[in-house]
Amino acid sequence: MIKAILLDIEGTTTPIDFVHKTLFPYAKAKLGEFVETHFSALEPEIEQLEKEYHKDFANQLYGRDFRSDAPETLANYLEFLIEVDRKSTQLKSIQGKIWQSGYESGELVSEIFADVPKAFKRWKAAGKTIAIFSSGSVLAQKLIFKYSNFGDLSGFISDYFDTNTGAKQTGESYVKIATAMNHPQKRVAFISDVTAELDAAKIAGLCTFLSVREGNGIVQPPINHSAIASFNDLQNI
Ligand SMILES: [Mg+2]
Repeated sequence: MIKAILLDIEGTTTPIDFVHKTLFPYAKAKLGEFVETHFSALEPEIEQLEKEYHKDFANQLYGRDFRSDAPETLANYLEFLIEVDRKSTQLKSIQGKIWQSGYESGELVSEIFADVPKAFKRWKAAGKTIAIFSSGSVLAQKLIFKYSNFGDLSGFISDYFDTNTGAKQTGESYVKIATAMNHPQKRVAFISDVTAELDAAKIAGLCTFLSVREGNGIVQPPINHSAIASFNDLQNI
């Protein structure tokens, strides 16, 4: 019997489009204004970004100015990091803070598929633990469930894991997560729209389900996982 359910976000609990067409453009649009207003509070990030900048400048990847006393130069550099799709911890951290202020002001509301809150209630009532594993930062994950179109769903979620635990396509990450949740791997089910992630989880001994939702990418066969169109398909998990 399954004791814990581990969920991916994009393409599983939330439309991929919400992340790419709402969240990322929002952070990009608010960047200049946010950096200007919160400049002194961003000191730890700026210190790290300055190091990253010097490397990029030396390697001739970025030729503009960066001055730790000039917010607009920081905003320009962050825009560059977004454009080159750099997986920068500092960029992620600042994006998370921008989203937080957007959610808190009510300007942002996250999108969760309608079957998700119903399944949360059902699984909780059956005594199962619900956790998240996503490449977005833990702060970004928490915000998505706290400020959703179905209200605050964060009370249903026990744990959040991001790539600090390990890559989503590496089996070891799933062993670590099951251990952290105090369950044997075979008692944990992982749901995702990406087969490479599910393959890694399966190798680690987890039970896997492929999320097939509208707006998800096309999945190439062979598919070695049970496919579900919504969480309604998991009535007696
Ligand atoms: Mg996904």
